[in-house]
Amino acid sequence: MRVAIVGGGIGGLTAAFALQRAGVETTVFEQTPQLLPVGASLQLGPNATRLLADIGLLEQLRAVASRPDAVDLLRWDDGSVLLHAEHGDAAESHFGTPQLDFYRPDLHRALVDSLPPGVLELGARVTGAEQSGDRVTVALEDGRRETFDAVVAADGIRSPLRQLLVGAEEPTFSGTVVYRGVVPRAEAEDLHRDRTNRYWIGPYRHGVSYWIAGGALLALNLGVQRADWSEESWTREVPAAEADAYLEGWDDALRERVRRCGTVLRGGVFVRRAIPHWSFGRITLLGDAAHAMEPFQAQGAAQAVEDAYVLARCVAKAADDVEEAFRRYEQIRLDRAAELQAQARGAGDEFFLEDGPEQIARDERFRRLAESQPFGTRQLVWEHDVRAALS
Ligand SMILES: Cc1cc2nc3c(=O)[nH]c(=O)nc-3n(C[C@H](O)[C@H](O)[C@H](O)COP(=O)(O)OP(=O)(O)OC[C@H]3O[C@@H](n4cnc5c(N)ncnc54)[C@H](O)[C@@H]3O)c2cc1C
Repeated sequence: MRVAIVGGGIGGLTAAFALQRAGVETTVFEQTPQLLPVGASLQLGPNATRLLADIGLLEQLRAVASRPDAVDLLRWDDGSVLLHAEHGDAAESHFGTPQLDFYRPDLHRALVDSLPPGVLELGARVTGAEQSGDRVTVALEDGRRETFDAVVAADGIRSPLRQLLVGAEEPTFSGTVVYRGVVPRAEAEDLHRDRTNRYWIGPYRHGVSYWIAGGALLALNLGVQRADWSEESWTREVPAAEADAYLEGWDDALRERVRRCGTVLRGGVFVRRAIPHWSFGRITLLGDAAHAMEPFQAQGAAQAVEDAYVLARCVAKAADDVEEAFRRYEQIRLDRAAELQAQARGAGDEFFLEDGPEQIARDERFRRLAESQPFGTRQLVWEHDVRAALS
């Protein structure tokens, strides 16, 4: 059994690790010729980290991450606390594994390093995949054609393979632009003295700040609705002043974090519509290629990890019938991912409310939430254990 994975991002690399571990020979084709430290921060909730623990990846990932002690949701103009949730040891023992916060290049590098040599091919851009009988032939830009038993399209939000399988449909602009930055510890320590993740919520803006990279960097993300349109990008660098200009009247603690970034990455948030199938015979979709979502539940990467775990388990169980394995994978994952896409959109709408009756009702909900959900607004998402569907 030989499987090709197209795309060596977070989902593709995790799938490669899980498949290799299940005894499936895997090749990852990644278009990037060189591993450069691109991107900023990214979170993995316990729903993902418990799967990473299960496949033996948690400890090396924890070594490059940060674990928060608490989460605070804050009012936009004065930083007053709307919801406080403890994390740390209490959360880790409740969920079984921690939430981990990463500098994306560190997470990516740790996943690359976890693979045996030769699995990941860099500079390998896939241009097509063709099924014939019980084989799939992958075409590469350099002219090579390689044949496999199955192909996993983990080629991200723009997924060329999704376009081939589902039709030429571009991702949709969500209406939000995100600015992402980091500040080295020495320049941020006075701003953020504890390990509480802070989320400012208010009219059409959403600021987030937390430690990553084992506390070496402070991450700053600012979501802006009604901003000037921007393209989907992880490399477009702009002065932090451009982001700060959207924060007139906002808490200065957030504004100062933005300013200290100096420069930030600007990217429009694009999404994929939920589709009725991910699996097409011996080719299946995984991660953003299947279900790119908004970032307001911090589940984009975590859902790719859930995909990777389930995919490997299904393939291991039905190795002699890969089409059946892909159907089962889709059946287990499709509704959960679509639900998270909808929840992420809903969380954004709730965070971005203007002051008024809806905002007052929301803040009241937050005040009461501690009684039923001591670990905050994402507790139910994190409690979900995808392994239950596999037994
Ligand atoms: C460079 C980069 C930086 C990012 N930075 C952040 C960040 O700071 N914060 C955040 O929340 N999210 C970030 N993301 C997105 C985040 O990683 C994903 O939303 C999430 O992890 C889901 O992962 P994925 O594997 O589905 O997609 P991705 O992680 O986006 O990976 C897709 C991979 O497929 C490769 N690929 C695409 N087309 C082809 C092809 N034709 N042939 C071969 N390879 C192909 C891409 O180069 C990419 O490596 C970033 C993505 C990328 C690619």
